[in-house]
Amino acid sequence: MSLNDLTQGAIAQMVQTADPSNSVQNPVCQILSIKKIQASAASASSMGDRYRIILSDGVKYAQAMLASQKRSMVESGELEKHCLVRISQYASNSVQGRRILILLDLSVVHPPTADRIGSPTNVDDSIKPEGGVKQEGGAGGALGNSNVGNNSAGRTTPATSAAGAGKVGGGAAGRPGGSSVHAGMPIYPIEGLSPYQNRWTIKARVTSKSDIRHWSNQRGEGKLFSVNLLDDSGEIKATGFNDAVDRFYSMLQENHVYLISKARVNIAKKQFSNLQNEYEITFENSTEIEECTDATDVPEVKYEFVRINELESVEPNQTCDVIGVLDSYGELSEIVSKASQRPVQKRELTLVDQGQRSVRLTLWGKNAENFPNHAGVDEKPVIAFKGVKVGDFGGRSLSMFSSSTMLINPDITESHVLRGWFDNDGAHAQFQPFTNGGGAGGAMGGGAANMAERRTIAQVKDQNLGMTEKPDYFNVRATVVYIKQENLYYTACPSDGCNKKVTPDHEGNWRCEKCDRSYEQPEYRYILSTNVADATGQIWLSGFNDDATKLMGMSAGELHKLREESESEFTAVLHRAANRMYTFNCRAKMDSFNDQARVRYTISRAAPVDFAKAGAELVDAINAYM
Ligand SMILES: [Zn+2]
Repeated sequence: MSLNDLTQGAIAQMVQTADPSNSVQNPVCQILSIKKIQASAASASSMGDRYRIILSDGVKYAQAMLASQKRSMVESGELEKHCLVRISQYASNSVQGRRILILLDLSVVHPPTADRIGSPTNVDDSIKPEGGVKQEGGAGGALGNSNVGNNSAGRTTPATSAAGAGKVGGGAAGRPGGSSVHAGMPIYPIEGLSPYQNRWTIKARVTSKSDIRHWSNQRGEGKLFSVNLLDDSGEIKATGFNDAVDRFYSMLQENHVYLISKARVNIAKKQFSNLQNEYEITFENSTEIEECTDATDVPEVKYEFVRINELESVEPNQTCDVIGVLDSYGELSEIVSKASQRPVQKRELTLVDQGQRSVRLTLWGKNAENFPNHAGVDEKPVIAFKGVKVGDFGGRSLSMFSSSTMLINPDITESHVLRGWFDNDGAHAQFQPFTNGGGAGGAMGGGAANMAERRTIAQVKDQNLGMTEKPDYFNVRATVVYIKQENLYYTACPSDGCNKKVTPDHEGNWRCEKCDRSYEQPEYRYILSTNVADATGQIWLSGFNDDATKLMGMSAGELHKLREESESEFTAVLHRAANRMYTFNCRAKMDSFNDQARVRYTISRAAPVDFAKAGAELVDAINAYM
């Protein structure tokens, strides 16, 4: 074998050219290595093993991923190191800032040679950061197809050429279920989609479907809905606006499999999605969707159920899958969300399982409204939930997201086990609800929420927290800027659990009116008033003895003693206590002072910021913008 058996220069063009139909056709390349990739924990159950391939044209080599529908070529031993392949279908995608080839269809044209052919170098080294290709003498000429330059990434070129359609048709022909939707179009894995090619069909299962949401702003009004789609390569969100809502909303049903084509692929707005995909789909006027009866190659939604009595081991704000028997459900109610100022409909369910605990789960919007219309809801059905949010209101509680799914009496093993248990024993059992922390009743307008959401200082003010008769709870991550010196502590009654202020009597003792007796020494207790700041603003917080002791690093008695010895030592302690960052659990409540109403923010718990954990949270938040 020699260099001339390979399509020299193909790699640079394949990697660089966003639209494969304008790039080199059916190049022959050599496989330099095949490596199995450990699937991430999140995707392992549904996606199986993946293979990374180093592909060479004798001049350059590049990393490529083998599309998951082709992994059997490796597993059967057909695809081996140093063999030559003809690539009949591929995509070139940007993955974490690098372009990666995805091999969608290929065939082996020559068994493994003794060694690599030529001395290929890494194609990444020849690509400028902007994605332009350095001038490489001869690369274009060798291909006889040198329209690289007028096909820059970022511009979508309609793939209308007959060559494009013909080329990919071969890839799809082997698939069963000849459908009008994907006639002549290849079935792409979801991960192979990009804005740079628009002739594709995906075959995917709807794993969740949103309500129809309406909006109205200066530019007009409209409606939209979205679905999450799954195939064995990955997940992607798809959204339909206005007409597409009318055409597709009732057609697309959760857990069914569809062929979808002729839609637009956009950069994902990750703030509005829980999927990791760089892209998302928008249905257009030309979009075609058809239900697919042959669904065996499309993975089912996989559950990782957490038992109700194990929910306490899940951190608040995480999502989890839960299955249980519906013990009862509440009336539909409506609350006005403080943050959005919009009315929201909600309904609470009570779920139980073999662990003898019960947990409340909140449904919102249409799910809440339509719940009683589902068949069997009054006959203690088993309900499986995917991706529900764990809150710590009332100890532990659950809440649906727009991306969560609910299946009533699903035909899965866990469901049948629960059915058998409940009908025999469960119906007569007593269940213990989660209760600790429930004293904050109604703080978040009912339940299934967190005791306290983390907010910025600006949000605390903008959302008028504490301005109503009910107290509001919030967390704020802020830095102590200033601690007020005057009235930092007071003289308290030393008797157990009294804490009433004591005053000197005529004998020089300290008198408590409440206990009706005098003491030789008072106890000193903090009534801290501190100004804290974050990037959005400043706010005054009050803190009592325990938290103030932590902030000051000493008890009020010790601080008082220090102050009597040296005023400068005292102020030094106050200065040292500032410039430290805490997570403050707070309560906002209206207070009357001289007939003036004002909101007081009281610290119920202060903990130093755990920087590893806080950093990881910010990584997630920043990733949502990338
Ligand atoms: Zn007392």
